Amino acid sequence: TKYVYLFGKKTDGNGTMKPLLGGKGANLAEMCRIGLPVPPGFTITTEVCTYYYANKRTYPAALRSQMEAGIASIEAQTGMKFGDLENPLLVSVRSGARDSMPGMMDTILNLGLNDQTVEALAKKTNNARFAWDCYRRFVQMYGDVVLGVQKRPNEDHEPFETVIGTLKDERYGNHEIEDTKLTVEDLKELVLRFKKLVLERAGKDFPSSPWDQLVGAAGAVFGSWMNDRAIVYRRKYNIPTEWGTAVNVQAMVYGNTGDNSGSGVAFTRNPANGTKEFYGEFLINAQGEDVVAGVRTPEPVAQLKNHLPGAYHELERIRATLEKHFKDVQDFEFTIQEKKVYMLQTRNGKRTAMAALKFSIDMVKEKLIDWQTAILRNPADQLDQLLAPVFDLAEVKKAAVIATGLPAGPGAASGKVYLNADRAVAAAEKGEKVLLVRIETSPEDLRGMIAAEGILTARGGVSSHAALVARQMGKVCVCGASALVIDYDKKTITVSGQTFNEGDYLSIDGTAGNVYAGQIATAPSEIIAGLVHNDTAAQATEKFKSFTQLMKWCAQATRLQVRTNADTPEQTRVAVAFGATGIGLTRTEHMFFEGNRIDAMREMILADSLEDRQAALAKLLPFQRDDFYGIFKALKGFPATVRFLDPPLHEFLPNSKEQQMDLARKMNIPVEKIMQRVHELHEFNPMLGFRGCRLGIKYPEITAMQARAVLEAAAQAQKDGFKPKPEIMIPLVGFKKELDLQVAIVHEVAAAVQAEKKVKINYTVGTMIEVPRGALTADEIAQTAQFFSFGTNDLTQTCLGMSRDDSGSFLGAYQESEIMKKNPFASIDQTGVGQLMGIAIQKGRQTRPDIKLGICGEHGGDPDSVKFCHKLGLTYVSCSPYRVPVARLAAAQAAV
Ligand code: ADP
Ligand code: MG
Ligand code: MG
Repeated sequence: TKYVYLFGKKTDGNGTMKPLLGGKGANLAEMCRIGLPVPPGFTITTEVCTYYYANKRTYPAALRSQMEAGIASIEAQTGMKFGDLENPLLVSVRSGARDSMPGMMDTILNLGLNDQTVEALAKKTNNARFAWDCYRRFVQMYGDVVLGVQKRPNEDHEPFETVIGTLKDERYGNHEIEDTKLTVEDLKELVLRFKKLVLERAGKDFPSSPWDQLVGAAGAVFGSWMNDRAIVYRRKYNIPTEWGTAVNVQAMVYGNTGDNSGSGVAFTRNPANGTKEFYGEFLINAQGEDVVAGVRTPEPVAQLKNHLPGAYHELERIRATLEKHFKDVQDFEFTIQEKKVYMLQTRNGKRTAMAALKFSIDMVKEKLIDWQTAILRNPADQLDQLLAPVFDLAEVKKAAVIATGLPAGPGAASGKVYLNADRAVAAAEKGEKVLLVRIETSPEDLRGMIAAEGILTARGGVSSHAALVARQMGKVCVCGASALVIDYDKKTITVSGQTFNEGDYLSIDGTAGNVYAGQIATAPSEIIAGLVHNDTAAQATEKFKSFTQLMKWCAQATRLQVRTNADTPEQTRVAVAFGATGIGLTRTEHMFFEGNRIDAMREMILADSLEDRQAALAKLLPFQRDDFYGIFKALKGFPATVRFLDPPLHEFLPNSKEQQMDLARKMNIPVEKIMQRVHELHEFNPMLGFRGCRLGIKYPEITAMQARAVLEAAAQAQKDGFKPKPEIMIPLVGFKKELDLQVAIVHEVAAAVQAEKKVKINYTVGTMIEVPRGALTADEIAQTAQFFSFGTNDLTQTCLGMSRDDSGSFLGAYQESEIMKKNPFASIDQTGVGQLMGIAIQKGRQTRPDIKLGICGEHGGDPDSVKFCHKLGLTYVSCSPYRVPVARLAAAQAAV
């Protein structure tokens, strides 16, 4: 097997070989292939890493001879020799996974130095100080990362730094003088003391043989693949352990030989805002790690023109070559040795959403990429950064982070804190900017959440009520900021020793999950201002134009439609402005929480007889009808899937004694009656209880009322020219007969309404597939259902037998143990839940080949899930209004 791939004059690998050579190795090879100046070297493949762990940390037998051939090749190209006493070759040993990975071993520079070769280097370069500085850096780095001589818990400083400080004290009476003041004699003494330290701490001599050094360093790179930091990082970013890391061994070039040398890092364009400008920084007379270490302050790369104009122009030429070849913005590292530029690394630059957008649009204009590639260049999960209101950058730098939580609703919000929805609404009505701060939120807080600029909770995760509402409404939200101690009685928030009262200012950054004390200025995103509020100034901005261009390309590419989950005309309007082609889910129950509608709802639930229930339902009917009319109007002829009542009834009744007394007074009935009903409706497992179509089976009059509301609204909208297309959806169906009974009611009401209003309504009736039995008997159900919509929230709960609201207590451990890679409530479990979906699709089509298929769970806004739905061949996904652009982008990416 080939374990070692050369790069240099002869190059074995290329840029496509990242799995085998790692990102760094593959791109070093690619740069050699296109003639860029790269110091020669070789890459030890990731397969050796895999072998190493599969074989009790040993190496394949063939490795040593291949490495020897690799070193020989570098020697031939440089004219130097590893360990030579006249012209010694020094190398760097660099780790390199597929993507750069913090937590992996640090790079070791100047490997190959020992007491003899250092003299040779000094003599050859006629620069003893340089040679001994390299040597002491090498012993220090190698001692630290390979031999593990590191700070102990009881120590204040790195042990090597302590040695340096002591020597400076002894010789200059000051342990803070700069390293550059140290003489050759000082450096020699440091090397001696460092080696003594290594012997004490590591229990062995510092290796003097260059080959021992090289083998030790390579082993340390492979070993670091399994260190704690690397493991934690991989878990966080879903990087599989099997990938392994490669090791790069490369001839050293020296940026620290004097003022004609230096090191730097640069981007071919500005990665923060996307501007086409050379962006980066450098240090004269420095080795690479000095630039990022922050010991000296680097200069902007444009300044290099003044120091070393030749090298600067060479870098400009390289910058152009890189972009022309890689056709993407590159982030690269270089070293200048005696005016000559060397390339040490290049990779696709990390970028903000703003920069990604600008790069993609500009590069199409420059004909570097086509529009399909431009679609792929915008990370779908970053897109909502562009929609978020923004903090003033300068101000946020001055503010102090007092707590952190889950970044649940991206954007920035500042306001006076209120701990209860009513007071938040009242304050907002007075014109205050409000932050609603709650331990947790519930549907009763909705009004307060709508009134607030942002929502902050101390408890709850991605699928908590606060997070869901934030996504649906595009609210800025930080949830689960557990450091906050909220006292509802005292109306205070205490955190890290500070106490805030109601009315004090806090600010939250829902993109990062940070909570700040005080007020920070914000502005709405130009994209929302332009699309939703028709703000012409915003529409003239480059950000807006670029965004709409991207969405145009998405529309051109996509096959999967994107609809929205919306409960109000306003949400619908927003979604349509973002390009939604209909509503995939209207949760009618949300409508019952607005204003005093809840009273009629409660009356309905408390009713003892059919007559009383019908009387209460009659009060609800006009509310629902108005809502639906508004939605049909906002949809401009797009279809609307309306789900009939789904949640268990107890959710609508007040649960505190105080609220129950209130309601009793309002309704003029004894409080005992309410308590009794709450008790009757109490369920041990409401998720699997009296909900969904089960409500309509037992109380058909509820279904009839809802059908009437939808169809009367449709009849009116039809007359008014809005071309409504209601799709009535029965939830939680597992048996064909359940659906049959409900559909019969709908058709009966429809016939009546059409006769009364003398219009023909273009409606369909279908069901949600959200329990496994429904999926498994989809062929039967499709005889009645004209469409399926996968309710993947419930389908996940019922398929996994895992309650979404309770999963927080163990899901973390599950992800840590890699039982599941992602939260199945955020991203579809493709093998399990996805299989049920596949079965339902296949069986549904068997009965009804043209059956319309959609998904309306939270997953509809998750890019990976959207791509999966494209693969399954669904007609549409549906997600909250502000996720529509994200889903459209993901759908287009799946199609190109
Ligand atoms: P990281 O992955 O942390 O960026 P690198 O392997 O790129 O680590 O090494 C860090 C720095 O070390 C590089 O940016 C470069 O400046 C310096 N370096 C690495 N190899 C060499 C070399 N052969 N000659 C000179 N400097 C080098
Ligand atoms: Mg690097
Ligand atoms: Mg459901």
